[in-house]
Amino acid sequence: MDRLDLLPSPVLVTDAQGHIVTANSDLLALVGKDAEHWRGRYLDGFLPAPSRVFLQTHVWPLMLRHGYVKEIYLHLINGAGERVPVMVNARRGQWDGQECIVWVFFVALERSRFEAELVEARARAQRLAAELSQANAELQSVHQQLSQHAQSVESQNRELATLSLTDPLTRLGNRRALERAVEQWQMQSELGAPAALMMVDVDHFKRVNDRYGHDEGDRVLQELARQLQACKRSSDVVVRYGGEEFALWLPGTGPDGASAIAQRVHQLVREVRVDNKPVTVSIGVSCAQQTLHQGRDMVFLTRLLHQADLALYRAKTAGRNRTMWHDGPTGLP
Ligand code: GH3
Ligand code: MG
Ligand code: MG
Repeated sequence: MDRLDLLPSPVLVTDAQGHIVTANSDLLALVGKDAEHWRGRYLDGFLPAPSRVFLQTHVWPLMLRHGYVKEIYLHLINGAGERVPVMVNARRGQWDGQECIVWVFFVALERSRFEAELVEARARAQRLAAELSQANAELQSVHQQLSQHAQSVESQNRELATLSLTDPLTRLGNRRALERAVEQWQMQSELGAPAALMMVDVDHFKRVNDRYGHDEGDRVLQELARQLQACKRSSDVVVRYGGEEFALWLPGTGPDGASAIAQRVHQLVREVRVDNKPVTVSIGVSCAQQTLHQGRDMVFLTRLLHQADLALYRAKTAGRNRTMWHDGPTGLP
């Protein structure tokens, strides 16, 4: 028995040019045919084409440079004509006094299977990554829809809030808007800051409706709203307080400032005409000062309104078309 047959791997011995000198029984069992068949043939007789190319371009140059190669991955064609993956180690040396190369092969079926599993695992990972990015995109679109919905709910809420503070006929603020503005002033103004509340009531408005109809009455109210808006400064608030009654909230305004604004109101209101006659209003004014920082105080506004109403009543009973003050200047426009 050849001593090469004791080695537990297929082994091949070639001369320095790659011609087969001998092979052990494991190698012959692997590639088929007997030793005589192979002797003298070139090494790549049992390699498929790609492995031959690899042998020429890669393995021989390494062998020439270093005298050995390690862990070269090739395929052999076995006796049944199938491709068998192998790992090859080879070294140049002396064999029976002649320069030769010993090639040891390790069948690498396990490695192939492992590689196939790796390839499959990578494909699976890629599929999962694609599914994940698709799920991510869907999630993002749901998120976008949700945030659009939230925005529309928010804008609807804002619209509702605006509507709840607006008088539909004149587009001025309403009673609640006045409460808001006064509350805000109470919370934010300095100690001692002045403010004035002005109640403006149209004189003999019922007659307008009675003589010229409700629509004409509405038109007059809208015109008056426009004129009152023109009287106010940016920090002032004009609201439609009730039917033909308007309120002007003048934060930061003392009696002098309020008196000037009242005059302007009387003046501009006369621009509004019914049957070519000027509309007039009566005004009641109540002045206040921030005395304490005590947050919201609904009594404060109730008291101011009551005082302005009393003054307005006096303006009406004194003959209308004038301004009266609660504890302050009194006079005709
Ligand atoms: P005074 O000088 O004493 O204030 O007399 P007046 O006629 O203005 O007062 P009164 O309170 O008797 O009448 C107010 C009228 O305002 C009665 C009501 O029909 C009318 N009015 C209230 N709201 C509206 C409205 O939205 N549109 C119209 N056209 N009229 C309204
Ligand atoms: Mg009136
Ligand atoms: Mg009235």
